[in-house]
Amino acid sequence: MDGVLIPGLVNAHSHLDLAGSPAVPSRGSFPEWLRSVGALRASGRNIVDAASQEAQSLAQCGVVAVGDIDGSQGEGTRGRRLAKLGGRSYLEIIGVEREAARQRLASVMRTVDTLGCAGHELGLSPHAPYSVHEDVLPEIVRAGEVRGLPLAMHIAESADETRYLMHGDGPFAGFLESIGQGKPFARPPGIRPIEYVERAGLLASGGAVIHGNDLDDDDIDRLARHQSSVVYCHGTHRHFDRPPHRLLELDGVGVDVAFGTDSAASNQEVDLFSELVRLAADRPDVPPLLILKGATHGGRRALKLPEGPATWAVGSVADGCVLGPCPEDLESMGSDALASWAWSGEASVLFTVHAGVVLEPGGASSE
Ligand SMILES: [Zn+2]
Repeated sequence: MDGVLIPGLVNAHSHLDLAGSPAVPSRGSFPEWLRSVGALRASGRNIVDAASQEAQSLAQCGVVAVGDIDGSQGEGTRGRRLAKLGGRSYLEIIGVEREAARQRLASVMRTVDTLGCAGHELGLSPHAPYSVHEDVLPEIVRAGEVRGLPLAMHIAESADETRYLMHGDGPFAGFLESIGQGKPFARPPGIRPIEYVERAGLLASGGAVIHGNDLDDDDIDRLARHQSSVVYCHGTHRHFDRPPHRLLELDGVGVDVAFGTDSAASNQEVDLFSELVRLAADRPDVPPLLILKGATHGGRRALKLPEGPATWAVGSVADGCVLGPCPEDLESMGSDALASWAWSGEASVLFTVHAGVVLEPGGASSE
């Protein structure tokens, strides 16, 4: 079978513990959407099974590693492991009040011990600047450094979040008041989310910025100084109809851009390859090679994964993804033309090579 081999794709942001949930409409404010997702979490689904199925279908469609947020005390991680999908599971910490956040951190560190393999495939995820108490965020950063657990956090996802940090008002103020769990800070910090997490040490520690949708020039300078990674989720961006993401400018100043699907709660489908095809169609200004770089190398950088499996060195156990059917003029195509073909909608994933095992869409696998 003829095909074009590319490095395995990295889905740098997912929520396998929300697998199988219906999309939550974006009507109303972003905090209202968060409230509906909270209800989904409490719906009593078998999370290990659902997460494993979603991880399996990602693995069959070109993805060799996932940056997954696990808010289910390790259930999502167990599902990912059952499906033998590599990457990193970030155990999530939410706690608006100081003591609630500290208790959650302690509980997450116990889960880290129970799950094992900490530095290789686990990490920590303080949820977002509005949902983790200001005193505990630096404590989470330190805990990650001490245990060798990389960080990833939802940051600068919406203008409402920026407003809440700057002024303490807007939809997030109403939302937090309505859930009655106090406030994440004594008084509004009066700074934008990127500077806020920078002060907590998150950028210096190499923490990945999930979303980074609401960035000004100063934010981009800060991210460049720390050589940060920003994970852009195009499907979720469309779901909330947000203004165009500044990924081109981020790439231009040396910030690593990676791509993620986010969860079924804010995306039509959790399929990174289709999402990249949609991104290429919606954003003709984004070079196809940048999409390829972000979906492979950029994802590995964001997740702090070794480059080894993507390099196909002699003697290594390589990961990869084969696309087809081959274009007729393949021999004469340069890398730009090949990348542009990959996301044109004409190519699809024929099979994925995952540590030497071949997986096909639909489920067949062979050594
Ligand atoms: Zn997310």
